[in-house]
Amino acid sequence: MAGAGALGLSIAVELADAGAAVTVFDPSPETSASAAAAGMLAPVFEAVLDPVARGHFALLLAARDAWPAFAERIGILLDRSGATYAGERSLEVRKAVADLGVASEVRREGLFVGDDWRLDAEIALERLREAAVDRGVAFVNAPLEDPDGVEAVAATGWQGLKWAPESVMISAIKGQIIRMSDGPLANRTVGPVERRDGGYIAPGVSGAMVGATMQSGRTDRVGDEAIVDLVERTFPELSAAPVYGGDVRVGIRGATPDGLPLVGPSIRPGVWIAMGARRNGWLLAPLVAAITRAYLAGEDPGPWAPNLDARRFTAPEEP
Ligand SMILES: Cc1cc2nc3c(=O)[nH]c(=O)nc-3n(C[C@H](O)[C@H](O)[C@H](O)COP(=O)(O)OP(=O)(O)OC[C@H]3O[C@@H](n4cnc5c(N)ncnc54)[C@H](O)[C@@H]3O)c2cc1C
Repeated sequence: MAGAGALGLSIAVELADAGAAVTVFDPSPETSASAAAAGMLAPVFEAVLDPVARGHFALLLAARDAWPAFAERIGILLDRSGATYAGERSLEVRKAVADLGVASEVRREGLFVGDDWRLDAEIALERLREAAVDRGVAFVNAPLEDPDGVEAVAATGWQGLKWAPESVMISAIKGQIIRMSDGPLANRTVGPVERRDGGYIAPGVSGAMVGATMQSGRTDRVGDEAIVDLVERTFPELSAAPVYGGDVRVGIRGATPDGLPLVGPSIRPGVWIAMGARRNGWLLAPLVAAITRAYLAGEDPGPWAPNLDARRFTAPEEP
């Protein structure tokens, strides 16, 4: 296994539970996008507010539904407080939510949906790693250069690998988020995620997070003015707080042309891919892990596997 982010660790646990001997390689797990994420498990507002995810609601909902049993196995707490949307497009958003067959409620804070959940990404990563260790998974603090001769899963987010040819389809999107360790949002540990056009405030155990930028093609991990602009535009009432009583985290997401990850066998024998989950890697992790486990066991990977087929953008034969 290459990669110890949400996807790599979820797959490692799933494979270990299926009886496989698993080794996870990662030279720098602390730089994963998974560690920077807000942890929203948000099929509804992702499908409604992000044009790229518009057609993916049923798949995202199935992914969310894979969470309760997985979270219980690992010991991850899910915050099911829901989410609100407040913005100029309230009527349009309300209709789009209704068109998905999802119940919503108009509240003082905005349009509320109970179907979007959340987890604390940093804690979930820790739990996944502990669960993997408990199951006998080995960790190597180095890149997986070439898995010649052993079965390997590429779960390296945005970072392409020579031995996983389909990874050439992945592009990078830099994301910045501010964790509010000071000021009024520092104690917002639970409750609904607050969404507006262009950003959100997500509760978190070490302070609420305000994010997140979508900076296509950028792979640098430096905080820049884009996150300040996002806060000023989207949450002007926070601007008074010194930038803004929090620390900026940066993660690089991997993305494919249709916004869904590449999951499944590569054209290269013995290689499986689980990459490019864009802004929904946490949401998708248990579903991707279950599909990957099924593929490796030679079982039916289920109804969503064709949508995620790792070879869907590439020629059927190795060049
Ligand atoms: C600011 C921000 C907010 C986000 N918010 C959310 C959210 O609310 N909900 C949600 O579902 N998603 C969210 N996302 C997206 C989510 O974080 C990603 O989709 C997800 O983390 C991807 O997980 P991953 O395991 O594929 O990749 P990563 O977490 O990036 O992990 C990949 C790992 O592979 C390692 N690696 C690289 N090259 C090699 C190699 N050659 N060999 C071995 N290892 C290697 C890297 O060091 C890294 O640790 C957010 C992302 C960002 C940046």
